[in-house]
Amino acid sequence: MKSYIEMLNEIYEKLPKKVETIDRYKLPQLEIEYKGNKTIIKNIEKILNFIRRDKKNFKKTFSRILGVQINFEGNELIINANVSKQVIENKINEYVNKFVICEVCQKPETVLEEENNILYLRCLACGYRKILRE
Ligand SMILES: [Zn+2]
Repeated sequence: MKSYIEMLNEIYEKLPKKVETIDRYKLPQLEIEYKGNKTIIKNIEKILNFIRRDKKNFKKTFSRILGVQINFEGNELIINANVSKQVIENKINEYVNKFVICEVCQKPETVLEEENNILYLRCLACGYRKILRE
């Protein structure tokens, strides 16, 4: 007779393998510089172009996710704290997962739309639209 674990293993082997969510969606490498107690992302424009987000929306949302005040100066993003590259990468991924990736088709080709004061995330790939906030 098979043990419980053996049966579980068999069941899991028969299940379809979980599809990778952010498959092959690679953000450009961050170029970071530290000045005093500030962290500067030098190529933020490249990243914003890649995820199709404007500075205004990104600043507001990303500042909240990071829990630190941030500002754009020219083409650079200034974070008013010393934040490690790893943390910034994690937080950008968090932003991308919540506000860029389509939850239906998992593609990053989405745009923000505002209609009657409601902010939507619309997917250009599959047409799915969801409310981000009212
Ligand atoms: Zn989609």
